[in-house]
Amino acid sequence: MSKIYDVIIIGGGHNALVCANILSKKNKKVLICEARDECGGLLTNQLTNFIPGLHKNVTSSIDAISTNLRSIKSIALSETGQHLKLSGNKNEDQKTLEGFSAEDADNFLALEKKLSLFSKTLGAFMQSSPPRIMTNSFSDNFKIFKLGLNVRLFGKKNFNEFARMIGLNVADELEDNFKNPLLQGLIAHDSITGSNLGPRSPGTLINLLYRMATYDNSIFGGIKQNEGGVISIIKALENNIIKRGVEIRKSTAVKKCIIKNDRVEGVELDNGELIEAKTVISSADPKSTYFCLLGTEHLDTDFKRKVKHYRAKGRVAKLSLKLKKIPEFKGLDQSDLSQRLVVAPSIDYIEENFNFSKFENLSKDPILEISIPSIYDNSLCDEDMHVMNVQIQYAPYDVRGGWENKSAECINSVLSTIEKYAPDIKACVERQEFISPNDIEKDFNVSGGHWHHGEIQIDQLFMLRPIPGAAQYKTPLHGFYMCGAGTHPGGGMTGIPGKNAANTVLKDL
Ligand SMILES: Cc1cc2nc3c(=O)[nH]c(=O)nc-3n(C[C@H](O)[C@H](O)[C@H](O)COP(=O)(O)OP(=O)(O)OC[C@H]3O[C@@H](n4cnc5c(N)ncnc54)[C@H](O)[C@@H]3O)c2cc1C
Repeated sequence: MSKIYDVIIIGGGHNALVCANILSKKNKKVLICEARDECGGLLTNQLTNFIPGLHKNVTSSIDAISTNLRSIKSIALSETGQHLKLSGNKNEDQKTLEGFSAEDADNFLALEKKLSLFSKTLGAFMQSSPPRIMTNSFSDNFKIFKLGLNVRLFGKKNFNEFARMIGLNVADELEDNFKNPLLQGLIAHDSITGSNLGPRSPGTLINLLYRMATYDNSIFGGIKQNEGGVISIIKALENNIIKRGVEIRKSTAVKKCIIKNDRVEGVELDNGELIEAKTVISSADPKSTYFCLLGTEHLDTDFKRKVKHYRAKGRVAKLSLKLKKIPEFKGLDQSDLSQRLVVAPSIDYIEENFNFSKFENLSKDPILEISIPSIYDNSLCDEDMHVMNVQIQYAPYDVRGGWENKSAECINSVLSTIEKYAPDIKACVERQEFISPNDIEKDFNVSGGHWHHGEIQIDQLFMLRPIPGAAQYKTPLHGFYMCGAGTHPGGGMTGIPGKNAANTVLKDL
């Protein structure tokens, strides 16, 4: 049977859509099979709070899409009503921080300058397939040389700083620099979001650098929301690829890959239909890709072990509240309420939460990131009600007692925590919907329900992501690639894995 498609992409998350756009621009015939009835994967208005937006190197590689992104301030909430509001604008933030401590303000500028130098280098390294190590390939060796050179060009002092910081926990660096616990808590929060690390865990500083590399190399800048929500960006991506002839089949789950002579030659759908293609790309997470779509019989024992040990248990839950009226937060006005509100008032607060989650328990005082996007964007109201999205960090996938018994307790703790800042919250809530990491796994087809399809930690990064030996968007089987958040450089709305994977496939096709 002749192959109609050059490429089948399994899954229609944003990385798949970016990948399809780049492939179709090179006249490749592409089919996307998405299990859900809509594209976008984890990037839905329901789950997503704030985004960096597609990376500029991604938008310059795909057909232009129109977005309505606006910059968002971060507000670290304090029970006293003395909140800390930071915008990412250097002058504004310096003035704000000086109001608390002149020393903190100076140290913040110095720390951001230093970290942004490091995150720029990291960001450049994110833009292409990571090099293979120990090969004779000129391009691999050149990439390693270039990275080494960029790091060396930091100068001796910064080079030593970089080497010191790479494995460091973020708490040490923040406590060395700042006195204000709200500032410490806010930065620590952004260093651990989506991960299974506490601020005192080694390696959290690299998480912060990673985040900064996608957020304009800034600590609080580059945080955005899109008018119409993230879903209108997804629709724009979809429309572009449809114009280029890409076919998207929704409600179409792929059961497994068709494999002949160690080569993937197409897919079998859940309904038994077979579709052939020269190349197949999975945007599903690594565990689903290898264990379900390929099947363990096609992997050697060592590879199977590595996939099994890949850490991908989610720690983030979501509570969506429909509001009869907007709650009154002490010390905040209406315009503040359309910004990012964070409940993480100190490093110890976060670390104590992490301690609960280490033993798969829930904290009574959870870490929260709150967004009420409908205040700024009326189109996001639901049945004429405002919507408050609350992200709960350290909601363990394997919670003791099971989520079926623990959801109500978690919702109660979230509302009681918000009540400390907005005493009327409970009276404002008309309806609520809770999404645990288990729900994310089931409803969004992501094994473990992890934010990044797998932890962002040094042994699961760069040329080790997702699995050593299969890290350059390639897999051990010919004709089979990966393009999702489980590949380099990881998750969040950037589109970088999708772009890099498309370029790798184009070289091979
Ligand atoms: C609770 C939560 C909140 C988050 N909030 C934010 C945020 O505020 N800002 C931000 O930038 N990032 C956020 N993220 C992270 C971000 O959403 C993800 O990292 C990103 O969406 C990953 O994109 P992707 O395209 O690689 O994969 P996904 O979005 O997971 O898409 C993969 C797609 O593949 C489909 N699929 C899987 N298996 C199959 C199959 N067998 N057949 C057919 N289809 C299949 C799935 O249905 C899915 O649509 C959040 C993540 C979580 C879990």
